[in-house]
Amino acid sequence: MKIAMKESFYPFLQGGGEMGQLTRCFDWANTVVGSPDQWPQSLRTTVSNLLRSKFPMFLWWGPDMIQFYNDAYRPSLGNNGKHPYALGQLGKECWPEIWDIISPLHRLVEISGEPTWMEDQLVPIYRNGKIEDVYWTFSYSSVLDDEGRHAGILVTCNETTEKVLNLKKLKESEDALRFAIEATELGTWDYDPVTNKFSANNRLKEWFGLPIGKEIDLQLAINVMAEEDRQRVTEAIKQTLLDEKGGQYRIEYTIIHPATGKKRIVCAKGRAWFNSDKKCYRFNGTLQDVTEQVKSNKEIEEKSQELQLAMQVADLGMFRIDLVRDKATYSQRVMDWFGFKEQGLNLQTVSGYVHPDDRERVVTALEHSVTSEENSRHDVTYRLHQPGRPGRYLRSFGKTDFNKEGKAYRMVGVIQDVSEQMLIREQLQQSEAALQNRVAERTHDLQVQKTLLDSVVSNSTSALLYGESIRDEKGRLLDFRIVLANDKAAELFGFSNIQEFSSQTIRQIHKRVGAEDITDLYIHIVESGEPNILVYQDASLQRWFTISTVKLRDGFLTTCTDITETKLLQYQLESAITELKRSNANLEEFAHAASHDLKEPIRKIHFFTRQLKDHLGAHSDGKDMKSFNRIEDAAQRMGNLIDDLLQYSHVSQRPHQMEAVDLAQTIRDVTEDLEIDIQGKKAVITTQNLPVVRGHKRQLQQLFQNLVSNGLKYSKPDVAPVLEFTAGRTLENNQPYYWISLKDNGIGFEQQYEDRIFQIFSRLHGKAEYSGTGVGLSIVKKVLENHKGFIRVESSPGEGANFSIYLPTRESS
Ligand code: ADP
Repeated sequence: MKIAMKESFYPFLQGGGEMGQLTRCFDWANTVVGSPDQWPQSLRTTVSNLLRSKFPMFLWWGPDMIQFYNDAYRPSLGNNGKHPYALGQLGKECWPEIWDIISPLHRLVEISGEPTWMEDQLVPIYRNGKIEDVYWTFSYSSVLDDEGRHAGILVTCNETTEKVLNLKKLKESEDALRFAIEATELGTWDYDPVTNKFSANNRLKEWFGLPIGKEIDLQLAINVMAEEDRQRVTEAIKQTLLDEKGGQYRIEYTIIHPATGKKRIVCAKGRAWFNSDKKCYRFNGTLQDVTEQVKSNKEIEEKSQELQLAMQVADLGMFRIDLVRDKATYSQRVMDWFGFKEQGLNLQTVSGYVHPDDRERVVTALEHSVTSEENSRHDVTYRLHQPGRPGRYLRSFGKTDFNKEGKAYRMVGVIQDVSEQMLIREQLQQSEAALQNRVAERTHDLQVQKTLLDSVVSNSTSALLYGESIRDEKGRLLDFRIVLANDKAAELFGFSNIQEFSSQTIRQIHKRVGAEDITDLYIHIVESGEPNILVYQDASLQRWFTISTVKLRDGFLTTCTDITETKLLQYQLESAITELKRSNANLEEFAHAASHDLKEPIRKIHFFTRQLKDHLGAHSDGKDMKSFNRIEDAAQRMGNLIDDLLQYSHVSQRPHQMEAVDLAQTIRDVTEDLEIDIQGKKAVITTQNLPVVRGHKRQLQQLFQNLVSNGLKYSKPDVAPVLEFTAGRTLENNQPYYWISLKDNGIGFEQQYEDRIFQIFSRLHGKAEYSGTGVGLSIVKKVLENHKGFIRVESSPGEGANFSIYLPTRESS
């Protein structure tokens, strides 16, 4: 810049601040413009206007485009840039960086004479030590010389860099907002309370099913809301519009798409704007689809309720330990269990509530869980220390949380009362121990039994053999392999070595010893399951065997017993019995014949004794008569004995013919026969329910005749005999019997003689007081044996006797 030594004074260069001064001091004389006093009028006027204007102005003058500018323009050149050198400088030299942009504009203005207008045009310039992007709104207009020719270009300009940048920023933040709205899938709405219309983004309109791109009446949107929400939303909008402090609006409601019926829960947020008259001029905001959120909130709510319930049902308690502050908090149940009075106890205090025996284990488990993430879980069971109370067992499961630095800061978990399980486990352990004992005992017993069985098997005098089935591929049973056999079995088949014997099959053995092969019999037994007993005579050995075989699992068990000795004894016995029977028959025949034959001499003794008595008549003295009487008595007794023996020999033969016998009738017949005795003794005989039985009529009559006559005979001297018959049915050894009892009120006898009285010729009472032969009750017994019945008696001296007769109903009915 060329500066004159002293400020020159020109009236047209007055004022203009710094630039006015610089222009005045500039050494114009050394430029092509020349000294100001030589300037044409139009230059003077233009520069004067320029310096005095508050609007930024710049002038290029002359063909070299010498430059002038004012204070208002000066800031646009920045610091450390073109100012102040630009003053008086050639345009081309001053703006080399943009000369290409601006010189065509100069040409345009020069040629057309028309001014230009550029708005927010980027024209980078060098200032502030660097090339800066600078925006301008400017106008170029032609300045004419005194002759009206184009002489320069006046630039009125305004730097709009800040405005452009602000606009740019605004756009960017708008873009960011739009992006955010897109990204967060928000709907936006803008309501004009004056027109009652609102606009919204497409998303919101889609949700509401409203026409895209139009302003909408608010009521249309309200109608889309679920009926139960409409009133509430309308009210909230009304309230917000009335709240002149610019109240916030936040409400959740459901919308139902009018076409698809799809339901959405939305959350509307917004704000009302008020002008200085406190009138709302705008109400806008966003709408968020919170369906999923509400759903998941609901789910979380439900889950947490479920959790609460589960905790309640499972009888769980909860705890949380703030490891940083060493404070524990717990649910009510935990407080009750431990007996805590307050929240926030430290860990050491809490561990004091644990049973001393378990404390160290619990503390170790918890300490371990805070060492690292991998060990963060703990599961520990312990007893509470509550002296005087049944120990409560608790199980604590928990997890320790670690912060980013890997430091444990919290422990949460649940506690379960496991007293019952522990009790059951204890009982289980006890019963398991008891069971093991029993198993051991049983095993021992079994071992003893096995040893016993082994010795029974090996010492058995019978051969024992278990053969297991050998089947072909179709399952047909062919043969048997020996699984178990004793020495006796091997010996029976002529094997001296049990091992060798056991290695053979049943068929092989039979073949080898040349015995009759009974393998097929065994097969039949296994297939049919029917047991078999075979008595087998080995002709060559001259011995008898019993082979009894049963099916056992898939095989047979057979025992083979040498019964040769028994067989021989049986033969001997049989021939002895035959011999006995023969001699019995002979004896009976003899007894019968003898009795018959003996009756005749007795009758003769009677006859001749009476004749002798009559003949001697008065000649005989008392002594003789006594002797006669004794002879007659003895003969009488002899006769009775012979009668009884005859009877006995009759009943000794089993009756061949059975018939229905009405026992009531039998008793009537008996009492008729004994009528004289009955009347003589004034005896009373009663009967009750006497049955009709199958039997031998005559023998049954003999039976009852003997019993009744005994009842009359063994009566007490001054007491009239009472004989009571009662009867019924009964079971003896599970067999049905008629039971007939005869109870008398006679002299009775000691119970110890109950068997003896039924033996033949056996008598308890002397013949002087009670006549008899001792045969009657043996006849009774014999008759009952013939009828497969039996007799019992109960008696004691002076108490009478009670005889009970049992006759099988099947045999006798
Ligand atoms: P006896 O001919 O002697 O009567 P029994 O064989 O009929 O022979 O009886 C055997 C013995 O049983 C009798 O001698 C008597 O001592 C005793 N006896 C039998 N019936 C009765 C009874 N009803 N009361 C007491 N004793 C009896």
